[in-house]
Amino acid sequence: MTSTLQGTRDEAAAMTAHAPNHLEERLDRAEETPGAPESAAGILGGDIRIPSPPAVAIRVLKAVRNEDVTAEELVRIISSDPALAVKVLRLANSPVYTRSGKIDSVKKAVSVLGIRVVKNLALSFVVVDGINAVCGKALDFESFWRRSIIRAASACVVCEVLSRGDDNLFMSALLQDIGEVILALHFAERYRGMRREAEPQAQIRAEREAFGLDHQEVGYQFLTRWELPGGICDLVRHHHGAVGLDDALGVPLSTLKLAGRLASLFQASHSGQNFDDFSTALRAQMPVDAEKIQEILSSAHDRAREILGFFDISAGSMKNCSQILQEANEELGKLNLTYEQLVLELRRAKEKAERYASELAAVNTRLQELAYTDPLTGLFNHGYFQQLIERELARAARYSRPLSLILFDLDHFKAVNDEHGHPVGDEVLRRVSEIASRCVRQVDSVARYGGEEFAVILPETDSEGAVILGERIRKTLEKTSIQLRDITIRVTISIGIYTYKPDSSSITRAFMINAADKALYFSKRNGRNKSCVYKA
Ligand code: GH3
Ligand code: MG
Ligand code: MG
Repeated sequence: MTSTLQGTRDEAAAMTAHAPNHLEERLDRAEETPGAPESAAGILGGDIRIPSPPAVAIRVLKAVRNEDVTAEELVRIISSDPALAVKVLRLANSPVYTRSGKIDSVKKAVSVLGIRVVKNLALSFVVVDGINAVCGKALDFESFWRRSIIRAASACVVCEVLSRGDDNLFMSALLQDIGEVILALHFAERYRGMRREAEPQAQIRAEREAFGLDHQEVGYQFLTRWELPGGICDLVRHHHGAVGLDDALGVPLSTLKLAGRLASLFQASHSGQNFDDFSTALRAQMPVDAEKIQEILSSAHDRAREILGFFDISAGSMKNCSQILQEANEELGKLNLTYEQLVLELRRAKEKAERYASELAAVNTRLQELAYTDPLTGLFNHGYFQQLIERELARAARYSRPLSLILFDLDHFKAVNDEHGHPVGDEVLRRVSEIASRCVRQVDSVARYGGEEFAVILPETDSEGAVILGERIRKTLEKTSIQLRDITIRVTISIGIYTYKPDSSSITRAFMINAADKALYFSKRNGRNKSCVYKA
């Protein structure tokens, strides 16, 4: 491409139709190039003019070009433009940049954000503002800048993800299509009709055919005229070019292209294809899983919204992450497994595994309960009673504490079964269990020893205490009428008590149970419905 764009002051008057006070320079007719079609010269005869930047932009541009600009100088330049100062402060205080505290002065913004970030912010603002001012309102700038800002925000995120710090990428992503603005400004409807080309390469071919030069070149000439840093101008000039990673522009160009793919997800249709393209391009640069891709999408989305706010541009129809993923899923659902489907599959598998785990835990708990509870009464069963008494006896011996055991048996229970049937007998056993459980203390354990015989283990309890407790159970049952539908049943119990005393060494569990049983037998023999304590 050898077409050139030059500006001269003497034709400023001819530009007033576009933007009265700013278009001071013009783009001369592009020289006819050997490769360009003959018609190009004729079309360019309409003159492409390059507007000069507004005064404040010139100052900031100068400061940005100066590598050694001091923080004080930058603060002074930004502060001299209240609109710019407010914007810089607003962005500095946005969640994207602010980590702590309130930034209430440009000086603070510069010291907290660093000269490089502030330079970039200020530059992007003055360039965008300047372009808006000099190019007038002839074009749909809002949607143009929305697209550009989303791409610039995506560039920030891609740079972070790939750990590629490049000062020029944000501005290059922001301004890469500025040539389109200039072309549209000059060729109006003709250019806009052509813009419907979806493929960048097709668009470039069409632009070259129609005007002798494409929007990359026009953008390059424009930014060079505005004296933006050379790195930005070069990237803009080649932003649709082939990427050879070994040449100087290769890495930033591939980053810029990746940012473009990411940005298109938020605006274009065909989310499925775009998602696939972006994922594939990203994975060519670094290994990423589906979760990471979603994370990138969401931070690009948040960053874009922040920067759109900075430029007072609405998010318009910008999609959010879940919309993109949902659309991509719907489109790609017809194809093979894609990343986000994989994520869904994994999520489902994880949920299933978690459900199984909790079901298993519930079953285990249930099994454990079954292992130590008696199914009819819900009390501890015989096996667990034996474990408990063993454990409590050992503890009592270790700490020289008393331990009592109560055994009680229902009196003439056979008669209840005989008279009312076994199911009623079962219900009576349940009621007796409930009543006995209510009579004991929290630390005591009630078990069904077997049949209609029960046991209560009373830690830290001497025989007087055990008698009081046993009597409480006996008397409570004695005065309770067990009501079962139309039947009223009264039961009594006979009690046998044995108390382990700390000085009685070598007492075994079997001995304890046997002794309590003997005492119980004694109660039975002596008229039932009474308590008896075993005395050695
Ligand atoms: P005693 O006062 O001498 O203890 O007389 P008893 O009738 O209670 O004693 P016996 O040992 O003669 O009979 C016990 C009865 O307890 C017999 C049996 O049917 C009943 N029984 C044992 N386990 C269950 C059970 O799980 N459900 C029901 N319904 N009855 C049971
Ligand atoms: Mg009995
Ligand atoms: Mg019995």
